[in-house]
Amino acid sequence: MTTPAAIYPLKINFEIPFSKDIRLPRFVYLFILTGEKIHLIDTGVADGLHQIKTFLEKKGKKLSEVQDILLTHAHPDHIGAAKLIQQKSGCKIIAGKEDLNWIEDTELQYEQRPVPGFHHLVAGSVKVDLPVKEGDIVKPEEHTTIRVLSTPGHSAGSVSFFLEEQKALFSGDAILLPGEIPIFDDIQAYFRSLDKIKTIQPKVIYSAWDEPRFQNEIPGLLEQSKNYVSQIRNTVQKVAEKNNSVQSMDFCRAVLTKMGLNEKIANPLLLRTFSSCLK
Ligand SMILES: [Zn+2]
Repeated sequence: MTTPAAIYPLKINFEIPFSKDIRLPRFVYLFILTGEKIHLIDTGVADGLHQIKTFLEKKGKKLSEVQDILLTHAHPDHIGAAKLIQQKSGCKIIAGKEDLNWIEDTELQYEQRPVPGFHHLVAGSVKVDLPVKEGDIVKPEEHTTIRVLSTPGHSAGSVSFFLEEQKALFSGDAILLPGEIPIFDDIQAYFRSLDKIKTIQPKVIYSAWDEPRFQNEIPGLLEQSKNYVSQIRNTVQKVAEKNNSVQSMDFCRAVLTKMGLNEKIANPLLLRTFSSCLK
């Protein structure tokens, strides 16, 4: 094959059961690269497997032809189906070094980050065959050169993958969209990662949150994300001034209400996000 792999986004819908009466509808994009072989960027949740299978069948391909899965980070909606796909294909798993422990031990991840419905979203642990870090080059096939960019903030080990031939960036959850439920671990790292993405000047961004965004839209997109996260930080700081127990769920609910979101979705992950705004 003399051309770079073709890129297909696939949107997977799922739900997070926050409580008995609140099931939060969510979605995630994964990306299927087809060239001589098939390469996946993230896998979506475990239940999304049939969508991947159906998509490949429509292209005259099979799950068993998947050669590798590149994971942007360890969260359930990104690694959920990895184990199932690996069982069918024996594919290689490639992921950022810092997220290795949560991918290779999903029980540890659940203990440390108890996402509601975790065991329904994730099929199980997988071993990472190739741990990667900033600047590493992965070449899954000829004319497909992927450079690893460390883009922490959303999670400590988040990476983005830059497909050099197409100047296409797969950013995972690194670019939070305005209005989305904010999840990040480190707000300063988050801003630095946005700046890094801007510097490499991608022609297209394939984000897990969004439709593909092209060249002229990208600076605006990054700016909007930055402004939204800055607004969240300001709101958190304002609420914190009137609240003396910033480690409590009451604080989490107060911030959500101030943001115009449903206070019933208060949970430890959001509290962690809000706490990072006070550091
Ligand atoms: Zn995530």
